[in-house]
Amino acid sequence: MITGKCACAMVQYEVQAELLDLCHCHCSICRKIHGAAFATWGGIARDKFVFMSGGDSVKTYAFSEDSDSIFCGNCSSTLLVDYKPDAEMLYLAMGTIDGDVKCPTGLHQYVGSKAPWFTICDELPQYIEEPDIQ
Ligand SMILES: [Zn+2]
Ligand SMILES: [Zn+2]
Repeated sequence: MITGKCACAMVQYEVQAELLDLCHCHCSICRKIHGAAFATWGGIARDKFVFMSGGDSVKTYAFSEDSDSIFCGNCSSTLLVDYKPDAEMLYLAMGTIDGDVKCPTGLHQYVGSKAPWFTICDELPQYIEEPDIQ
């Protein structure tokens, strides 16, 4: 089981399953919504995600026609991305997870949009845009 929370701990969640995939996304939107060099997302089964508290204080921001960012309305921590065409999955902002979790091998995507001041220093696969999967 995966548990996590936002920075102010108003929003707490549980995922009663393991991560299905892991990606480090370097696209400009992920960089901005995290205020970081890149965002790390863990794919989870949508029906295994539950808010344990604060579910009524989350807000959503539609950063594209089919994608919402879900964040704490109090401290603004990004918690999830809901890519709506993918009805089975949600993408968990890995930095909000408490403790350790079993991680699938990750990958880097949208490295074509990578911050020029950041250097990827691992051996994971890199994709200019999205990997051709699913
Ligand atoms: Zn919060
Ligand atoms: Zn992205």
